[in-house]
Amino acid sequence: MDPWIGKALVLVGIVVTVAIRVPFDSKSNKVRVVDNRKGTREIILLALMSLGVFILPVVSVATSWLSFADYPLHPVALVAGALCLVANFWLFYRSHADLGTNWSMTLEVRENHQLVSNGVYQKIRHPMYAAIYLYALAQAFLLPNWIAGPASAIAFTFMFGLRMGPEERMMIDRFGEAYRSYVSRTKRLIPGVW
Ligand code: SAH
Repeated sequence: MDPWIGKALVLVGIVVTVAIRVPFDSKSNKVRVVDNRKGTREIILLALMSLGVFILPVVSVATSWLSFADYPLHPVALVAGALCLVANFWLFYRSHADLGTNWSMTLEVRENHQLVSNGVYQKIRHPMYAAIYLYALAQAFLLPNWIAGPASAIAFTFMFGLRMGPEERMMIDRFGEAYRSYVSRTKRLIPGVW
């Protein structure tokens, strides 16, 4: 079927994601950072994410540079991608709303940082990362291109794999026993599973 429907949904995904994030970003940026752990690793991971989530999808939709890697869009992939996208919108919004001004784009602790363990943080510790995985799946289903389609999933697997440990250590440094106990009663990404 016409790949443009999938490509258009990917662009909608990018716009909605930015629209959800921007208001939370401007609110939390008003709160002072007291512990910043944004090292070289974080800078490389954030650049890799920009490539996977934004640059490669836009290049594949707006130019013919990656058209050698195109393949036909399957209707089942379109439906699966649309469902993942809608689930991502909900979870991405809820995780920002529950974290409030404790949210940061990178590894940071803010002044009066509170440990959030309610809402979508009740059963899993990384609902925002779960939302990003849903987005990556949506992109892989909706963008019928062997390079741009899986780009977010690959980039985010690096990001999640290399960031989760340092992030949880930073939370233990800040909240001690309270975070350890939170770890003991929650899973990482999938409620009840892992
Ligand atoms: N890993 C979480 C949060 C991602 S945003 C998720 O996927 O939902 C990253 C920032 O959130 C980190 O810099 C840290 O300061 C903050 N953070 C992570 N877990 C938190 C929690 N349970 N309570 C408060 N802040 C948290």
